[in-house]
Amino acid sequence: MTTSFPVSSKLFQRAQRLIPGGVNSPVRAFRNVGMNPFYTQSANGCRLTTPDGNEFIDYVLTWGPAIFGHNDPEIRAAVHAAVDCGLGFGTNAPAEVRMAELITQTVPAVEKVRMTNSGTEATMSAIRLARGFTQRTKIVKFAGGYHGHVDSLLVKSGSGAMTFGQPDSLGVTPGTAADTFVLPYNDFDAAEKLFAERGNEIAAIIVEPFLGNIGFIMPEPGFLAKLRELTARCGALLIFDEVMTGFRISLQGTMGVHEVRPDLVCLGKIIGGGLPVGAFGGRAEIMDCLAPLGGVYQAGTFCGHPVSLAAGVAALEKLIREKSVYEKLSAFGKTLAGELTRTARERGIALQVPHCGGMFALFFNENPVRNLEQATQSDPEKAKKLFRYAIENGVFLPPSPYESCFISTAHDEAALEKTVRVLCDGLRTL
Ligand SMILES: *Cc1c(COP(=O)(O)O)cnc(C)c1O
Repeated sequence: MTTSFPVSSKLFQRAQRLIPGGVNSPVRAFRNVGMNPFYTQSANGCRLTTPDGNEFIDYVLTWGPAIFGHNDPEIRAAVHAAVDCGLGFGTNAPAEVRMAELITQTVPAVEKVRMTNSGTEATMSAIRLARGFTQRTKIVKFAGGYHGHVDSLLVKSGSGAMTFGQPDSLGVTPGTAADTFVLPYNDFDAAEKLFAERGNEIAAIIVEPFLGNIGFIMPEPGFLAKLRELTARCGALLIFDEVMTGFRISLQGTMGVHEVRPDLVCLGKIIGGGLPVGAFGGRAEIMDCLAPLGGVYQAGTFCGHPVSLAAGVAALEKLIREKSVYEKLSAFGKTLAGELTRTARERGIALQVPHCGGMFALFFNENPVRNLEQATQSDPEKAKKLFRYAIENGVFLPPSPYESCFISTAHDEAALEKTVRVLCDGLRTL
């Protein structure tokens, strides 16, 4: 290794004595790439700086939220202004009303919305609401779909077209997992069959409309429409988990590029402008089942926190105002994907680089990846080697082949040029 992190290494040693695995979220331990993680001292634009003075062009971007890059001056100013008014109120605050207006005016299918503190809380609450509204128990998710660490959604295994879920985590009871059906993504027949057999027990399908937590996998034409048709036919709800894809695939999220309209939408990441936030919303008739109007309970000491929402409102207003954001992100992704696939082809390396709206993934596969099973056939050794070459040379990719990469509007020409050079050189070493 030419890049070394003496300060980070010392911090990680201290952390491992006090924090399980040394981290507060498992993927940050870098275990998938077989090295110790670095620490970040500061982050600006498209770059991270470590306490050791290393600088990286960042394609993790706080796992998605930083669509304008790190520490955007406008969002920072909004946070400063909010902090000057107090660090939290425990009463209603004006920013909550503004946030609800921005979300309902921008995201189709959302007539009413509730704020939460994280994406996990949003999906957990949406599931409870769907069960309360339909008075049914079963939930359908897709293998490889990640919806936060909600018990009933930490289930993805099953080799058949339709299985009762097995928990992915110790501590999730078999009873909870048994209420979750897992289907292969992009498999029309499996979904059809499950709904034919069990449709009247199903409260909802929850789907990441673009899978973003197993690399990046796009829905095949008609797949989301099929889910809409199946749920509508049997009185189940369709929940789009757009915690990652909301305000990312387009200003309207998935609904900006697909006609399908879900009953409920979960949001997070970008709508917090970098601070912790989540939200779920949808048809008013369903949302009105929440307390205090209805019998489905959901609450939170910090929900609608004025500082988080100041950041979120600033981010959303900037996205709405700056019309060319998504074209810029797409153009960057297209150039990068084109250069990488061309270099890989020249070297005889099987590489797929799916990309959309500033999300992309590197799959070392012969053919385009349609589902979890194919994603896990991607060559992990090549991914690990490329990660290590990139970090040696100032480019930070996600420390796991099963995470999506993100582009921000702060990724400029110089960043593109350097990234293409480093990653193409990296591919030539494989
Ligand atoms: C990140 C993510 C979540 C969980 O959000 P947290 O804020 O980490 O709890 C849920 N669903 C999807 C699709 C996500 O990408």
